[in-house]
Amino acid sequence: MRHRGAAFSLILLAVLVFAGCRTSSTPATPTFSSPQPSPLPSPTWPGEEEEAKYARLRERMVIETIQARGITDERVLEAMRTVPRHLFVPEEEREYAYGDYPLPIGFGQTISQPYIVALMTELLELRPGDKVLEVGTGSGYQAAVLASIPGVEVYSIEIIPELAQSAKERLERLGYRVHCKQGDGYYGWPEHAPFDAIIVTAAPDHVPPPLIDQLAEGGRMVIPVGPPGGYQTLWKFVKEEGGELKAYNMGGVAFVPLTGPGMEEHRHEGGMEWPTP
Ligand code: SAM
Repeated sequence: MRHRGAAFSLILLAVLVFAGCRTSSTPATPTFSSPQPSPLPSPTWPGEEEEAKYARLRERMVIETIQARGITDERVLEAMRTVPRHLFVPEEEREYAYGDYPLPIGFGQTISQPYIVALMTELLELRPGDKVLEVGTGSGYQAAVLASIPGVEVYSIEIIPELAQSAKERLERLGYRVHCKQGDGYYGWPEHAPFDAIIVTAAPDHVPPPLIDQLAEGGRMVIPVGPPGGYQTLWKFVKEEGGELKAYNMGGVAFVPLTGPGMEEHRHEGGMEWPTP
């Protein structure tokens, strides 16, 4: 494997239950009535009684699908307990918001399933004072979870203008402090680099070199890598002193593809043979 001179050592850490890790495509249940739901912030907000119902569903989600599958970082669990996921999905999907599957958010995109959001957040090993970059804002849910970790500063990039705008508005309205930008996340956000952590929530076929460059020494990157439209491998990279990357295979996932000019221009350039998990 070659990648801009960086040496990679592969360490197999964990294998996820493959079928349970899907973050894209339509889940088996429930059936969605609308193929293109509105990506805009929901016009109506739930009343007190409904909010109490969602809080109970959220608590159950944390216990049954997140803690039960091995997430132990208390700060991550607390974030999953508090971020109102039902306000990040289109109104017609609200009742499904706390199921452990992805949901459509418009433009062929999805909000990732809660377990994967929690897992990727935990893998970032965030510490107070850390600066984290997310590529793929989508609904803004993952960004809100990151912003709920105490002392963490969040930057997030989304390529689809309508999603970028609606996520920014939603995050502001709900009081989450996230620096949002519309653009191609393949190139990262050099003005704010280096980042202590980078999370990519769409799948490229190689690790974008600009993201490696923008990762601080000691930094962690969590990214699904693999062919578009199929299953990918979730990797955790740790940049050691001197710039060497350690790679940890976290198992199989299925994300929507990373798109945009960066990917188009550099497709197949990674030069990495990605072993299947
Ligand atoms: N993190 C999101 C959330 O919590 O709702 C879900 C992410 S969704 C699985 C992937 C997102 O990545 C989509 O919104 C898609 O438009 C975006 N995306 C794809 N390619 C991108 C790129 N080159 N730069 C930035 N965003 C990109």
